[in-house]
Amino acid sequence: MTKPEHWQFICNPAYWNIQKKLSSDEIYDDWVISKSWKDVIAKGQLGFIRVGIDNRTIKKLKQLKRKKLEPGYYALVEIVEIYYGKTSYPNNWINPTGIEEDWRVKIKILKNYFKRPLKIEKLKNIKLKNKFNFDKVVFKPTQGKPNIPLSKNTFDKLYELAEGETNNKLIFGHVDKVKIGQVFKDRSALSKAGVHGPTMHGIWGRENEGACSIVLSGGYEDDIDELDYIFYTGQGGQDIPGGKQVADQEFIRGNKALMLSCKYSLPVRVTRGYQIKNGPTKGYRYDGLYYVNKFERVKGKSGYYICRFHLSSEKQIDILEKEIKPNLKPDYKRVDRAATTVSRIKRDVSLSENIKEIYGYKCQVCNVYLKTPYGAIAIGAHIKGLGKPHNGPDVIENMICLCPNHHEQFDDHGFYIDSETYEIKGLEGYDGKKITLNKKHNIEKSFLKYHLEDYKNNN
Ligand SMILES: [Zn+2]
Repeated sequence: MTKPEHWQFICNPAYWNIQKKLSSDEIYDDWVISKSWKDVIAKGQLGFIRVGIDNRTIKKLKQLKRKKLEPGYYALVEIVEIYYGKTSYPNNWINPTGIEEDWRVKIKILKNYFKRPLKIEKLKNIKLKNKFNFDKVVFKPTQGKPNIPLSKNTFDKLYELAEGETNNKLIFGHVDKVKIGQVFKDRSALSKAGVHGPTMHGIWGRENEGACSIVLSGGYEDDIDELDYIFYTGQGGQDIPGGKQVADQEFIRGNKALMLSCKYSLPVRVTRGYQIKNGPTKGYRYDGLYYVNKFERVKGKSGYYICRFHLSSEKQIDILEKEIKPNLKPDYKRVDRAATTVSRIKRDVSLSENIKEIYGYKCQVCNVYLKTPYGAIAIGAHIKGLGKPHNGPDVIENMICLCPNHHEQFDDHGFYIDSETYEIKGLEGYDGKKITLNKKHNIEKSFLKYHLEDYKNNN
């Protein structure tokens, strides 16, 4: 069995005044631990304070003017120290047994969920992979042992859910009183300011709401950062956070959220950590709003698939550099981009109009003609995309005329066109059908081949 690194600290509200503690500003406390775990539990590990069963009587609760606490997770804590001795916080003990000498850990409260705890009741429909038998305890409001381990999977899931409960609403755009270039001393401070809620995950978002913020802290080898332009690697697939890529990433959780940010053009706050080249010397710097231009699934350096997001700053690089200059590293240097980028995508409007005219504004896939009082709707689509990362050319040999639906599907790897036969592949209802071709229009095969490679990577 792998050694546990995550814990739940069980609290009995009849003995330890959790309400008093979590309503105060004091972030340290200590906790009795089972002797059997004293050599396993270690500094820096994380856990939750959990209420098992609140067995205070109605009479007692009335007297205290308090409500019964439901079984659930009430705080995220970090283990600071392991020692044998008395509590340094006797005031929180209602029953004096808690202050005897014992094996203890000093804990730091990183996140206080008291106002909106993650209730056990909410976990009924959550499926967790049980690596540890202890995980079963998650679902049973048992009392008893002072600390019980959790597997990493279960811990991660509980953390995500607890965060979801606390941060009721995601806030998109700038945060009040936070300026571009402002530096926060650590992730907790960043979280407190409302810039980036989760203290560990790089993406702050939800699958059905989008992502409002990301942090770049050097945890992924495939990240590329040019300050105003970022290739951001999604989350998941690592053995430990910031560790090796050992599995493919999927468009779920934070990755799904960033995908929505792209589709709905939602602003994403970007914060850089001291760990990366373009970060600040110390702490975490807020660098303003970016937009996700594109997402794709590509093979990363490790050989596993990663979800990659292309973000660009709403500001031009000169302005951005100027605003964050006091908090850039002294050896900061702008990436030489002459070879890799075109700063603004220039597209030739006449080419787009031209291809639509060639096909009479009809979709080359489905032949639909979409009439409006201002002319028909059709899109002159590029086969190999313009701009990063594809850098396809703006020439008519790299274009096709599509209806909006088929344009979206083509761009999002829903189907491809065979470069030899011009047959549509992978699109229900059109599979094997040849696209409409006009003699005046030659499609360059290499672009279709390029699109096919991209299609394969994403399917
Ligand atoms: Zn169509």
